[in-house]
Amino acid sequence: MFVIRVSFIFFFFLFILPSTVFSFTGLEMGKEEEEEEIGKELFPDILREEAVSRLNELGEVSDADGHLERTFMSPASKIAINLVQSWMEDAGLRTWVDQMGNVHGRADGMNSHAEALLIGSHLDTVIDAGIFDGPLGIVCAVSALKVLKIRGKLGNLKRPVEVIAFSDEEGVRFQSTFLGSAAISGTRPASALLISDKSGVTVQDVLKENSFDATEESYLQLKYDPQSVWGYIEVHIEQGPVLESVGLPLGVVKGIAGQTRLKVTVRGSQGHAGTVPMSMRQDPMTAAAELIVLLETMCKNPADFTSYDKHCNGFAAESLAGSLVCTVGEISSWPGASNVIPGQANNPNLPI
Ligand SMILES: [Zn+2]
Repeated sequence: MFVIRVSFIFFFFLFILPSTVFSFTGLEMGKEEEEEEIGKELFPDILREEAVSRLNELGEVSDADGHLERTFMSPASKIAINLVQSWMEDAGLRTWVDQMGNVHGRADGMNSHAEALLIGSHLDTVIDAGIFDGPLGIVCAVSALKVLKIRGKLGNLKRPVEVIAFSDEEGVRFQSTFLGSAAISGTRPASALLISDKSGVTVQDVLKENSFDATEESYLQLKYDPQSVWGYIEVHIEQGPVLESVGLPLGVVKGIAGQTRLKVTVRGSQGHAGTVPMSMRQDPMTAAAELIVLLETMCKNPADFTSYDKHCNGFAAESLAGSLVCTVGEISSWPGASNVIPGQANNPNLPI
């Protein structure tokens, strides 16, 4: 069922994208002329067959056997960079790989100094990823521009259009998301280069290993002047079940989830499971279970809690009740034996 939904969204987008690009880039076409042009040829060989084949091809570029895993500057990511760059060139775009490993493909159109429309998504993946998460937004954009090239329209664009395949969005290796796009938007300082992975290897080390300058100066130069950017579009596979549940093939994102991650330790009194009476126990595992259920109840019905003042960042109770989510994804106990009342319950990665 999931595959069916994914495909439907994908094809739907591919078919509407050419008209979207026409209107966004300000090509001077009358409505009738435009409809006639679009109706004449939908380029299924490029917008469907080739795009699907490229997504499958990229889905095979993995650092792991048996599942898709492609993290920032890994061997597989370098293969993916070259692959995407070659597709961008095939679409008639001027390409380069920047100092954070982001791949760019740009069509300057008629005015290279006009504000540019950026289109893109991320090239890295989570561990055991789906093939659409990230690459869909890259492949769709490249395919759409390739159609414009074939139609001889690429040079007629009123403003530049640039596709960017971001090197890091998921933050798997460095536990620091958006390394690629944050450098371009200028939202993360150059200290990002000093973030280290579990082995103490820094972003800077990895970049240098791959022949990038990885200096503060080269990093800061990546920032785009906001005045040079007209807009940004990203096509992304839906990662939840909502569109499918309401029978919609496509949705427009109006907001994005903000995250707060907490590591919580619940301490109690460790004891023998057979001899400590229930009335004398302070069991942190059962307390943690109650906390988890309470958290779930609060997020399902935020208006029922007195500390909630009916508003949160401009969201009223009704909308918050439908969008607020919480997850307890990891838990462990110490000492973790079936015949011992735990001394504490906590995130397994926290020190005891
Ligand atoms: Zn994604």
